Amino acid sequence: MNRRKFLRDTTLSGSGILLSQSLRGESLQSLTHPVKSASLMDNVKKYRKIDSHAHVTFAEGSTATQLDFADRLHIDRLMISLNLSPHTKGTPEQFKENNDLIIKNMKAHPDRFIGMMVLNPAYQKESLEEIDRCIDAGMVGTGELYNQIKINDPLYYPIIEKFIDLKMIVHMHSTIGYSRVKLNEREPKNISIPEDFVDISNRYPEAMFQFAHIGGGIDWEYACKALKDSHNVYVDLSGSNNAGGMIDFAMKYIGEDRLLFGCDSGYYQGVGHMFSANLTDAQRKKIFFDNYNNILRKSGNHVD
Ligand SMILES: [Zn+2]
Repeated sequence: MNRRKFLRDTTLSGSGILLSQSLRGESLQSLTHPVKSASLMDNVKKYRKIDSHAHVTFAEGSTATQLDFADRLHIDRLMISLNLSPHTKGTPEQFKENNDLIIKNMKAHPDRFIGMMVLNPAYQKESLEEIDRCIDAGMVGTGELYNQIKINDPLYYPIIEKFIDLKMIVHMHSTIGYSRVKLNEREPKNISIPEDFVDISNRYPEAMFQFAHIGGGIDWEYACKALKDSHNVYVDLSGSNNAGGMIDFAMKYIGEDRLLFGCDSGYYQGVGHMFSANLTDAQRKKIFFDNYNNILRKSGNHVD
């Protein structure tokens, strides 16, 4: 990679700075990148967007903050959930409480938020009952499931089978700091690694899975290679570790039909690196909006 390309890619992948400047209306003439500086926000506006990986929390102002970012970056819909914290038991009381917060938010902003539920298969019966409750409330899949139980653990089987019947996606957190060399010590033993996704997608080829945040700290080259042939695993591009060239690499191994735009609360980076990637207009449209909307279409919940 030459220096000019390096500068361009690093600038746009960490393009929080770039987009903030652009939002403030400052001149960006000194930067070189594929999208002309002055027209960057016009380009951002041009694309409809579904954020496949969004969260709201119990913190005061959380909802307003998410909506403010979404407004600035012209994100039409946010797939919101509140994951169970790592290293907690993830009791039914906890997941119901989190899901109640999501229900409250989706009811308050039905034109922006689409609700996704969290569960813990260690409490299988309660989780299956919770699916019914959340579907009745208008949710359309799982939000970010966490590391209480591995995605390919048999405890998940009846839950995945239920989502196959519902034609809805199952979204699972992926590990942080996992490399080909060594699993980060802070990760609990039940963390789902790419091979676990490969395993469960082979077992249930008719299910749809979302592999969370390749920008979340995993060795993304390794993850993309591992998931190359798992045709029912979608890969979301969110996360705060946006290395230059990540999307281009993912395009090569995962392809334009299985990549999902997402922010995981890193909004400027999430939108910015979509413009540093070497994508055509048609590919950007798919990744920003159409791919996720086609997932929603299977259960009749797509955005018009
Ligand atoms: Zn996560």
